[in-house]
Amino acid sequence: MRQVIIIGSGPAGYTAAIYAARANLNPLVVASSVEAGGELMNTTDVENFPGFPEGIQGPDLMTKMQEQAERFGAEVLYDDVIELDLDGPVKRVKLGSGASHEAESIVFATGSAHRKIGIASEDRLSGRGVSYCATCDGFFFRERVIAVVGGGDSAMEEATFLTKFASKVYVIHRRDELRASKIMQDRAFANPKIEFVWNSEVSEIIGADAVTGAVLTSTVDGSTRELPLEGVFVAIGNDPRTHLVHGKLDLTAEGTVWVDGRSSRTSVPGVFAAGDVIDPTYRQAVTAAGSGTVAALDVEHYLAALGEAGAPDVNADQIDAHVRVDAA
Ligand code: NAP
Repeated sequence: MRQVIIIGSGPAGYTAAIYAARANLNPLVVASSVEAGGELMNTTDVENFPGFPEGIQGPDLMTKMQEQAERFGAEVLYDDVIELDLDGPVKRVKLGSGASHEAESIVFATGSAHRKIGIASEDRLSGRGVSYCATCDGFFFRERVIAVVGGGDSAMEEATFLTKFASKVYVIHRRDELRASKIMQDRAFANPKIEFVWNSEVSEIIGADAVTGAVLTSTVDGSTRELPLEGVFVAIGNDPRTHLVHGKLDLTAEGTVWVDGRSSRTSVPGVFAAGDVIDPTYRQAVTAAGSGTVAALDVEHYLAALGEAGAPDVNADQIDAHVRVDAA
């Protein structure tokens, strides 16, 4: 039986692995079969991760994190978790390959997925003018005409941020009022570079190798029109990847895994969570890495306490402020 199994191989998972491996906990990282490395595998230049003044390619950064974890003894499996048994002191992890592993503790670091518009041209032009991250890619759209899709706080924040670079930013929203908070709305309305396109959905993104425009369909009368653009930022929300733990771990009202205060302790003793799956707000590689550190340190303390006194219980007072979401 392992001391710890880490599920997820983004910055949170690999940083937890580095710390756990250096603490001689011999971690097993279940990295996923096709999405190993997480969101950064879909990013080109990463210019805001400290320590790389010239920037680094997203996949190169993840390779370095993996190598660093393996150097200290972490074992990485390219497999998918299909089932988790988290009850009791022995946690069981069943994999897509058919294998099963047991551990005294789990770090759950499965990240989050950007919500997509769901059209074929969006996938085809992803990384070629279609982006899901203004802080990552905004820099590449200097003096360009671009659009942000969405009407929430993320869309307002991204649109406002992008006006630092772009010459014009359209905000394309499917209704005629925003979901965003008043302060974020006011900031966007006051920005002379932002123009709102109401009651419109993006039904197609145009371009052979790079974005040249979008087809907008009116949600009022179904009419269509083309809008010339050089970039489309999709900001219609993020969904933490929690399907494996529905009904097993408590979730927050925002859908993230509930953790106890600033720790990584979930509602189940011996199960810790880190990275975007617990974070509805910041969602940066470096904050996820910090969160992975917290999880590994919490695992160390948990295993030490387990060795001394058996599995500690989560105090009921600490968990009554959150919402339990059971599997539908
Ligand atoms: P959100 O609040 O769920 O808003 C998503 C927006 O995208 C909504 O306007 C929604 O339209 C639209 N949308 C959803 N699916 C769509 C689709 N398939 N096609 C077109 N439009 C679609 O998500 P969010 O903006 O990412 O915010 C998430 C949470 O983080 C919120 O609690 C927010 O307050 C918080 N946040 C806070 C800050 C901040 O305070 N600085 C910044 C970012 C996020 P409808 O309105 O018609 O549903």
